Amino acid sequence: MDFRSSQALDAGDRQANLGASAPSDAQQLLAQTEKLQQLNTWFEVALNNMARGLSMFDSDRRLIVCNSLYREIYGLPEHLTTPGTRLEDLVTYYTDRDGGRSDGTADGQRAWIENHISELRLGKTFTHTQHLRNGRVILVTNQPLADGGWVDIQEDVTEKTAAAERINWLARHCPLTEVANRFHLREKLDAAIANRAIVAVHVVDLDRFKGVNDTHGHAAGDALLQAVARRMCATVRADDVVGRLGGDEFAIIQMNLDQPEQAETMARRLVKVLNAPYRVLGNAANAGASIGIAVSPRDGEDSDTLLKKADLALYRVKSSGRGSYATYSSGDDALAATKLRLDADLARALERNELAMHYQPIIDIRSGKVTSCEALMRWTHQELGPISPATFIPVAERSNLILSLGAWALHRACLDAADWSSPCKVTVNISAIQLERGDLVSVVEGALAVSQLEPCRLELEVTETAILKSEGRVLDQLERIRSLGVRVSLDDFGTAFSTLSYLRDFTFDTIKIDRSFVRELSDRRDCAAIVHAAAGLARALEIGAVAEGVETAQQVQRLSDAGCREVQGFFFSPAVPSSELEEVFRRCSEKMATLELKDAA
Ligand code: C2E
Ligand code: CA
Ligand code: CA
Repeated sequence: MDFRSSQALDAGDRQANLGASAPSDAQQLLAQTEKLQQLNTWFEVALNNMARGLSMFDSDRRLIVCNSLYREIYGLPEHLTTPGTRLEDLVTYYTDRDGGRSDGTADGQRAWIENHISELRLGKTFTHTQHLRNGRVILVTNQPLADGGWVDIQEDVTEKTAAAERINWLARHCPLTEVANRFHLREKLDAAIANRAIVAVHVVDLDRFKGVNDTHGHAAGDALLQAVARRMCATVRADDVVGRLGGDEFAIIQMNLDQPEQAETMARRLVKVLNAPYRVLGNAANAGASIGIAVSPRDGEDSDTLLKKADLALYRVKSSGRGSYATYSSGDDALAATKLRLDADLARALERNELAMHYQPIIDIRSGKVTSCEALMRWTHQELGPISPATFIPVAERSNLILSLGAWALHRACLDAADWSSPCKVTVNISAIQLERGDLVSVVEGALAVSQLEPCRLELEVTETAILKSEGRVLDQLERIRSLGVRVSLDDFGTAFSTLSYLRDFTFDTIKIDRSFVRELSDRRDCAAIVHAAAGLARALEIGAVAEGVETAQQVQRLSDAGCREVQGFFFSPAVPSSELEEVFRRCSEKMATLELKDAA
């Protein structure tokens, strides 16, 4: 087809036709002209209804023809689209306007065009993408013509590109938190390792996500995950990568370290940042985080090994009490093997006599007397030695084994307490599962009957999460237990959702302020505020307030100032076997007395 413009056809061809025809054929000529005009019209309609922009230049770089979409794409004025317009003028126009490309300078673009034209003249076809300043993305194909000119076809691929980018993004990210997914994380990690730089992998696990999700629903859980991801992104450097491995597990690739030790500096910062309270859907929440670290090339040189080793280090953190970080060490491999056999061994621990109850004193600050002892379960494995309850209680909870372990703990604690010389209380931890699935009321009745312990000397500790979980049945059981004269305290206060509504629905005898607040009492203002508020709340409700995890004399002083009546922690004593309690009772009063002496001085 002849691709010249309609004007050019009108002028040139009519003359040529006139010259070639005999005057006697005037009618035939007229018919031919009309036919040509018709053809011209169709051609123009076809050209202007194409879904692509089209322009054609001759070997002198002048415009032969272009369609309306071409004009539209580059925002060209009428006078620059007439045949004969110089390419140079078009380029000058659209490098100056919004229709121009967003990349490179005008000179750079000219040089690029020159280069392309010489290549076109060698018969090459090109396809390239132009990013216009107005945000549109244009796919341009340049096709050489035999006479030294060329045709340009423009396709607006903005939407197509956006869709392709979105698909590409979705394949590599978690849509909820907008951080990298496992696949992309691996991709980035592999690339970083290949660069032979020092790279650290941090596997981050939230300590209390499940509680939030269970008690306040998935929407709250989702919001918490988003908030956590935002905090992580704000904490790491721009070239580090944050990703979600699934559930409440995240990973961070820390790029280009000078020394492996820098990984710990970042982990310390992350633990602190993630531990600060959150607000999700109008509620206060705490997530807390534990982090396992592996560093390449030291701990491994492929992403699978590094992720696995960081995971092993994480497992060690979780076993020794969460809320902290650890770097992989070779001992972690043995620990991993242990993890597998715990389930089976725990089931036999009771009959093998490997379980024991130890007791940690709770002291009244003013009198220096031990008011109660918290019963904490101890497991000494035949081959592996002592295993922390933070490790085996969750294992027991997963398998319902907690029901028999919990019943045993209650019986043992009541029997031991009945033998003590001091009439102080004994406090026993109760798992959520015991309240949900067990028959706790009759277990408690049984333990009291067998031991002959006065009910008022027994106190049960339940956590916020347990209360919020399946309210009706749980609260009903706790009421029945209280009506026996047994006391109930709220454990780990402040670590799950601090909605406080359950403080209205159920009367606790004591609240136990979590040791994470005590630990940061002197460094963080919000912790001091929470301790003050909790102690004030307890006073207002006329119930007790115990601060856990007290390790220094200074903390005792601050807690006393905050209005806290009772304290518990290593400063006084760790949990000890029942037989050593006499000695501990004595030492605790002495210790409190020395404190008071210091106060007075
Ligand atoms: P918990 O109820 O918060 O118990 C207090 C934990 O804090 C105990 O750890 C105790 O040894 C530790 N602790 C006490 N003073 C200090 C201190 O000054 N500093 C620090 N850093 N820690 C201190 P433990 O014995 O390892 O118990 C861990 C958790 O295991 C307990 O946390 C409790 O949730 C659970 N647990 C222990 N025994 C039982 C049990 O018989 N039944 C149930 N259901 N859970 C239990
Ligand atoms: Ca407790
Ligand atoms: Ca506690």
